[in-house]
Amino acid sequence: MGPVSGESFEPLIGGCMCGGVRFRVEEPLLGALYCHCKRCQRRSGSAFSMTALTAQGSFAVTEGAELVRAYHPEGGWRKSFCTNCGSHTHTTNPEDDSIVAIRLGCLDGDPGIRPQVHQFTAYAMPYEPLPDDGLPRFPERLGEGEPEG
Ligand SMILES: [Zn+2]
Ligand SMILES: [Zn+2]
Repeated sequence: MGPVSGESFEPLIGGCMCGGVRFRVEEPLLGALYCHCKRCQRRSGSAFSMTALTAQGSFAVTEGAELVRAYHPEGGWRKSFCTNCGSHTHTTNPEDDSIVAIRLGCLDGDPGIRPQVHQFTAYAMPYEPLPDDGLPRFPERLGEGEPEG
């Protein structure tokens, strides 16, 4: 976990709404995306979510692990949330616990990257048209290994 490209990296810190759950990311995020899938809409109560993939093994819950529960939808990643306040903090590959994506809204500060793509645009809400931001759009999932919802 040394410096990346000769630059120092400050760990990313985040947590849930009530502050009971805190997490830490020790390496730069690998990528981020906008997800317009129905699951993201339901779990966030919004039109889309922003999720970022962490480097394998770089994510850890540092406080409140006892508050974290996960919902595992069929065919999807495990969606972890704080049982005290309901915030969705991260999602985990069901086949490998070391592969975790975080919810960008839970970070305390700047994630250091920006969402680079829209996925599941076929389900975008009519009241929230896709922005003309020039980013690539995928009607369904971006690709294998990408966090789903
Ligand atoms: Zn909480
Ligand atoms: Zn989604």
